Amino acid sequence: MSRTKFLLSEDQLPTTWYNVVADLPKPLEPMLHPGTRQPLTPDDLAPLFPAELIAQEFSTERETDIPGAVLDVYRQWRPSPLVRARRLERALDTPARIYFKNEGVSPAGSHKPNTAVPQAYYNKQAGVQRLITETGAGQWGSSLSLACQYFGLVCEVYMVAVSYRQKPYRRGLMETYGATVTASPSEHTEAGRAALAADPDSPGSLGLAISEAVEAAVSSGGTAKYALGSVLNHVLMHQTIIGKEAQLQMELAEDFPDIVIGAAGGGSNFGGLALPFLGEQLRGGRPVRAVAVEPASCPTMTEGRFDYDFGDTAGMTPLTKMHTLGHDFVPPSIHAGGLRYHGMSPIISQLKEFGFLEARAVPQTACFEAGVTFARNEGIVPAPESTHAVRAAIDEALVCKETGEAKTILFSLSGHGHFDMQAYIDYFGGKLTD
Ligand SMILES: *Cc1c(COP(=O)(O)O)cnc(C)c1O
Repeated sequence: MSRTKFLLSEDQLPTTWYNVVADLPKPLEPMLHPGTRQPLTPDDLAPLFPAELIAQEFSTERETDIPGAVLDVYRQWRPSPLVRARRLERALDTPARIYFKNEGVSPAGSHKPNTAVPQAYYNKQAGVQRLITETGAGQWGSSLSLACQYFGLVCEVYMVAVSYRQKPYRRGLMETYGATVTASPSEHTEAGRAALAADPDSPGSLGLAISEAVEAAVSSGGTAKYALGSVLNHVLMHQTIIGKEAQLQMELAEDFPDIVIGAAGGGSNFGGLALPFLGEQLRGGRPVRAVAVEPASCPTMTEGRFDYDFGDTAGMTPLTKMHTLGHDFVPPSIHAGGLRYHGMSPIISQLKEFGFLEARAVPQTACFEAGVTFARNEGIVPAPESTHAVRAAIDEALVCKETGEAKTILFSLSGHGHFDMQAYIDYFGGKLTD
């Protein structure tokens, strides 16, 4: 029998997260304080995050134990399936073996609960009552809403105004999970009021929504903290549960990936899958080709500069050394909202500078074309973000068809697209631009 799904039992769920910082050939450049431009200290982050998450942000330990209460929640949907895309392989007539790690099986429909759950847990442990965040397409906001609900925290989400209006179902999901959702820019914050004064119909942006959420948390007098769904070191570390499972599952499949692929917005699902494999390589193990895929309309790694920049529009966050298009860059409103961010994880940026990974930019319509091919063969409708990984996986498989090489391709299916059907409708209607 030729197997299609490689499943781990619940007792095979990994119990530690992996921190690639322990294996980097050179330390990361320090974050800088936005005011003084001096290296950031853990104390500087205390208004934003609880002590345990700050410790993880600065950690150089290779493995961190996952708390039991977090593992209990993970078990609702983890270990997630590793699937061999046999019908897709046949449709492409490729000798390549294509596997995907399906993170769309989480209750919120993406990989983002992998970090939302521990972030809510550590905040609760620290006595925090409210978590404030921003969301673009709504994937992160719905994941944090759910995680806050599990741990008895109040959740407040600043949702980019244009998404707030265009994605009522995502907003409804957040409200179902118990969160309060505010369109950004809003009258609640100085950053929001300034943006509304300049343009009362402002569509908002992720960078601006981050400014609002940070300002609201900092001015809460300590009862509320802030949470970020990507980019930061602790977020990437939480996401390595994906790659740790995938390593065990590739063993079950008696195979090993030549190429590991993920869509990259801030770098967390790509890093989550690729970093455990790259870590093996950095410690002298078997090498992999890691490919991070971004939209041609927001080409952070392929065209951005590698430099210090702010994470938000108003310049309130620490400065990090990363690939950036500039903190005032407003990307066009492509459908893959989760990939519309001006910056990139410092870890992913640094690994690219070291030459340990490749970045590739792909246009939107080619991604939807790949997403439709995937859906028609594997049944799952990928999130618009995830179609970027599907596109690159299909392209690699087509190269194998040309060369006759039977390579093993592993990609991250970071989420399903059931809340994004308007994007597919627009694609079929010929309304999408690149
Ligand atoms: C948020 C999101 C992304 C992009 O974020 P990363 O931090 O780069 O992973 C990709 N896919 C889905 C489904 C998302 O929700």
